[in-house]
Amino acid sequence: MIIPAKSLSLFVAKIFEKNGVSAEESERIGRRLVSANLTGHDSHGVIRVPRYVNWLLDGTLVRGQNVSVVSDNGTIAVLDGHNGFGQSVGEQAVQYGIDKAKEHGVGIIGLRNAGHLGRIGDWAEMAVDAGLISLHFVNVAGSLLVAPFGGIERRMSTNPVTIGVPRGDEPPLILDFATSIVAEGKVLVASKGGKALPDNALVGPDGVVTGDPKALYGEGDAIRAYDNRAGEGAIRAMGDHKGSGLALMCEILAGALTGGGCAGPDKPKIQNGMLSIYLSIEQFGSADAFSAEVRQYLEFFSDTKPADPDQPVLMPGEPEQAKRKDRGANGIELPDETWASIMEAARNVGLGDDDLNAALAAA
Ligand code: NAD
Repeated sequence: MIIPAKSLSLFVAKIFEKNGVSAEESERIGRRLVSANLTGHDSHGVIRVPRYVNWLLDGTLVRGQNVSVVSDNGTIAVLDGHNGFGQSVGEQAVQYGIDKAKEHGVGIIGLRNAGHLGRIGDWAEMAVDAGLISLHFVNVAGSLLVAPFGGIERRMSTNPVTIGVPRGDEPPLILDFATSIVAEGKVLVASKGGKALPDNALVGPDGVVTGDPKALYGEGDAIRAYDNRAGEGAIRAMGDHKGSGLALMCEILAGALTGGGCAGPDKPKIQNGMLSIYLSIEQFGSADAFSAEVRQYLEFFSDTKPADPDQPVLMPGEPEQAKRKDRGANGIELPDETWASIMEAARNVGLGDDDLNAALAAA
């Protein structure tokens, strides 16, 4: 199925509306999920719809939530997301941090108890749009997926780290990655007929590395939202001891420091914690001088002979910018199983082909 981004976003929003979510919040969920698809991160896009609906129904996610302020000393604030949709409470928390950095030059936000925050690069892009540098450390309490370096058993999640740097009129630098070899959603995508995993991405209970998604999901029903606790294996941390250490620090910063809690066997809910630091460039000197230095350095950085002439050296954010351009113009291609699972979620709430055609006509 190839579908224009706007139609997909409208149709997904309808599914949430039919599940009792307000039109405004549903629109946000649809737009943010599709934004992940547009940037090429299908793992964090509309493939999540059935799982989000399940989470809404079982109380893991709560509709209509706003962040509340746990503490605020001017530059540092702790916010509670009350298990609201990450697309809503995440956006509010990021706006809170942006406002602080605009006023004080720096804003540090500990967000606890957020629903799934999706593609963290979206939040760095929001800060970049406000002219700010931002750093984000994220953990996922209730989601044990990743084995530490040297281990076989799951002790943490895929804990992403994200850094955004604005570059004036030039496209920003957006470094945004899971600290595991693959994000869990990429295992989900592979298990539903999408891009295959690297063959060292997972480890089985016997300690043998594998690229087979069954290590995570077991033998689940192919078009339902998979239970990532069903498999006996784990995702491997990226970069050996270094990636494993970075993931551990995400637990400390996004879990322990924000008060949302670290990953563990007794955490029933999937919740994101996020420590975000927003920086105003002007507080460090001239924004023009910064831009000039960055531009000069990036020219030097990019002007390196590629090992493979067909694979140019890219900057963080460039693959997503190219994908957004392509998919924005040509639509988003979804594997059959992903589309079937979305249509099943739609039919479960009384939506059908007429509603899909209406969304297609509205694009
Ligand atoms: P990935 O492995 O595709 O890496 C993406 C990063 O690497 C981007 O910054 C991209 O610009 C850069 N990049 C990719 N190819 C490059 C190249 N050839 N040269 C230079 N830079 C390049 O991403 P991932 O680890 O699979 O993470 C996917 C998404 O999952 C991220 O958006 C992340 O925020 C999200 N995530 C979210 C959660 C959550 O709980 N909300 C958990 C884990 C991951």
